[in-house]
Amino acid sequence: MGEVVVIGAGIAGIQAALDIANHGIQVHLIEREPTIGGHMAQLDKTFPTNDCSMCILAPKMVEVERHPRITIHTCSEVEKIEGEIGHFHVTVKKFPRYIDESACNGCGDCVLICPVEVYNRFDAGIGVRKAIYKPHPQAVPDFVIKDPEHCIECGLCYDVCGPDAIKRKDAEQMITINASSIVITTGYAVFDACSKKQFGHLELPDVITSLELERMMNASGPTGGKIKRLSDGRLPESIVFIQCVGSRDVTINRPYCSCVCCMQAIKNAILLKEKNPKTDVIICYMDIRSYGKGYEEYFERAKEMGVRFLRGMPSDVLADSSGMSLQVENSETSEVQVLHPDLVVLSVGIGPAEKSEKIAERLGIPLEDTGFIKPVHDAVDTVATLCPGIYVAGTATAPRDIPDSVASGGSAAMRAYIDAIRTRSG
Ligand SMILES: Cc1cc2nc3c(=O)[nH]c(=O)nc-3n(C[C@H](O)[C@H](O)[C@H](O)COP(=O)(O)OP(=O)(O)OC[C@H]3O[C@@H](n4cnc5c(N)ncnc54)[C@H](O)[C@@H]3O)c2cc1C
Ligand code: SF4
Ligand code: SF4
Repeated sequence: MGEVVVIGAGIAGIQAALDIANHGIQVHLIEREPTIGGHMAQLDKTFPTNDCSMCILAPKMVEVERHPRITIHTCSEVEKIEGEIGHFHVTVKKFPRYIDESACNGCGDCVLICPVEVYNRFDAGIGVRKAIYKPHPQAVPDFVIKDPEHCIECGLCYDVCGPDAIKRKDAEQMITINASSIVITTGYAVFDACSKKQFGHLELPDVITSLELERMMNASGPTGGKIKRLSDGRLPESIVFIQCVGSRDVTINRPYCSCVCCMQAIKNAILLKEKNPKTDVIICYMDIRSYGKGYEEYFERAKEMGVRFLRGMPSDVLADSSGMSLQVENSETSEVQVLHPDLVVLSVGIGPAEKSEKIAERLGIPLEDTGFIKPVHDAVDTVATLCPGIYVAGTATAPRDIPDSVASGGSAAMRAYIDAIRTRSG
């Protein structure tokens, strides 16, 4: 006993794991994807400093991997939790990777030779991946994974793999971990823009989401950092962002603000202007929420660079042979404007991670009406849950930016550490 389980290895879970382990406690970090890193690994730059997201995240991912007191369990989900504070028994299901992890050296030869190309979830659908793949070049742990659903068993990867690391058969495994406390950092899922049919996502090729734009902006992303229209590969001369897609919308039971989308749009507008100052960038918004340190100054900088802010929400995106158009009433002037952008970016909101309700049910803790995990108190105790010994941090409780996710990860870590020490000292 005296160990801690952290569920979800985004930036909040990584921070929690490092803080606990650096205080001498053994941590098990459970991640359902093949790599740790979460959404931050998908981002290009981060507001308000415009630091490269991976340049901040990758050293932390490597630190976790090398840490003698952290065991990473990727492709894994929590199946069952029994017991109580000080004495939890956590059953973890590990999905098959079809790779011998003790033999794979991450060389990528199998990926190069694999002939199958499929939808790439990490690149938010822009670009493709192989049937055997690494989610991204800096994946931790540095192993590939084979996707049995799309593999055609052509055998090419088996032939090319020197250390014989690819398995033809593999099966789920169950392990049980004894822990004194648990930290939930299962993060968020972005809003499915297709459920707002009026904006034409996946029907009009030049309507993309903000996460897809992040992948496009990224130099190691599917377009090598080139901003281009998916319809004809052309550099867009005019770009319109539509804010609050899937946020502050009572018609779809998402009345809350997603916190980061205004800043994310301002960030990408600045970066687009830096790459190509002639691009006309318009952000259609209800209110701009620039609440954090340095955020208002960042907003002002975007205006100075020529980003245009139009207060009003377009009703829909239309398209004909002459291109896309959208009508929007400027609520400051009451003037109705018709815009003809080359590219539309939907600033999608942040919702609870998939299967959050299952995690909550297994742990016996309540959810908010919005589906996020409920902490004990929204003002004075934002990391404890109603179940003693179980803590929650990052965007698992509510939309937050990276600095807030890191801070709450550290705060939950301290509480879990205290439980572990109390258990050790009996
Ligand atoms: C388009 C966009 C741009 C953004 N830009 C910025 C920015 O510039 N600056 C900024 O500060 N913030 C930005 N954000 C917000 C930022 O992404 C989040 O603040 C941050 O990534 C939250 O980290 P997290 O660890 O809470 O969640 P996540 O990154 O979602 O990590 C959660 C992890 O838990 C795993 N997981 C989920 N469920 C389970 C389960 N049941 N079992 C095991 N593992 C599970 C997931 O696979 C994931 O790895 C942006 C967000 C978006 C959508
Ligand atoms: S499975 Fe083999 S070929 Fe593929 S990355 Fe691992 S060692 Fe290289
Ligand atoms: S056996 Fe499957 S994973 Fe390997 S190269 Fe062929 S299709 Fe790709």
